[in-house]
Amino acid sequence: MYQQYRVVPETTVDLDRREPADRSAFAGDKSAGREAAKQLNRRLESLQELLYAEGRHKVLIVLQAMDTGGKDGTIRHVFDGVNPQGVKVASFKRPTPQELAHDYLWRVHKETPGRGEIVIFNRSHYEDVLVVRVHNLVPPAVWERRYDQINAFERQLAEEGTTILKFYLHIDKAEQKERLQARLDEPEKRWKFAKGDLAERALWPDYQAAYEAVLSRTSTPYAPWYIIPANRKWYRNLVISQILVDTLEGLEMRYPEAEEGLEGIVIE
Ligand code: AMP
Ligand code: MG
Repeated sequence: MYQQYRVVPETTVDLDRREPADRSAFAGDKSAGREAAKQLNRRLESLQELLYAEGRHKVLIVLQAMDTGGKDGTIRHVFDGVNPQGVKVASFKRPTPQELAHDYLWRVHKETPGRGEIVIFNRSHYEDVLVVRVHNLVPPAVWERRYDQINAFERQLAEEGTTILKFYLHIDKAEQKERLQARLDEPEKRWKFAKGDLAERALWPDYQAAYEAVLSRTSTPYAPWYIIPANRKWYRNLVISQILVDTLEGLEMRYPEAEEGLEGIVIE
């Protein structure tokens, strides 16, 4: 049902033709959508337990978005109540001097999930073909070859047993305007606002073009991108929750066999 948001490998993505306010895959209204997401959240809680108990699969979730796109809110809502043991968030900021002294995947590989773990990337190695490309932080010849390198890296993770899901939270410029203004107007949100956000907003078309390149070139069968309509937060949470639950159910996990002879034991 939500597979319409998956980017088919080797297709060219035009973000202007993707509706950020779309809600067509769910028949109900906002409150029904929230209720459905709550049910999925409970399902996710038990699937995560099972993933941890089985200790076989590794799950990597990549979140990317324009500023105010809702990465933090997605993590808070979709993983609400999920046992923090076994779920980790890795946030990628501007690289430190030590990180810059290494190749761009060095800091990323270290954060990938181990067996039984879910790791959520809040930003990711994709910044190295997004902000880095938009601001010319490295020459074009350098970022240009990174798409293939990223595909090879993700293929390797997948072949070694990592399930990878990548979500681009798609908002439009008008929605960003409202959310940035809210950050300025509401004292508890102001800490999230940086003056630099305005300069980044002015580069909107450049970022959209950089995202289109990412989505067109790095959606693969082993690490698909989903373009999530994200103007409506409840719909964004619902769609991501459903895709996650469907993916985890598809892993056909089982609880490990208990030791033999435990039946009938009564603790004195
Ligand atoms: P925030 O997620 O709002 O805390 O901001 C993190 C900042 O770090 C954003 O402005 C990103 O563009 C920036 N950032 C993340 N990764 C990189 C990178 N590889 N190179 C340059 N800037 C980055
Ligand atoms: Mg920011």
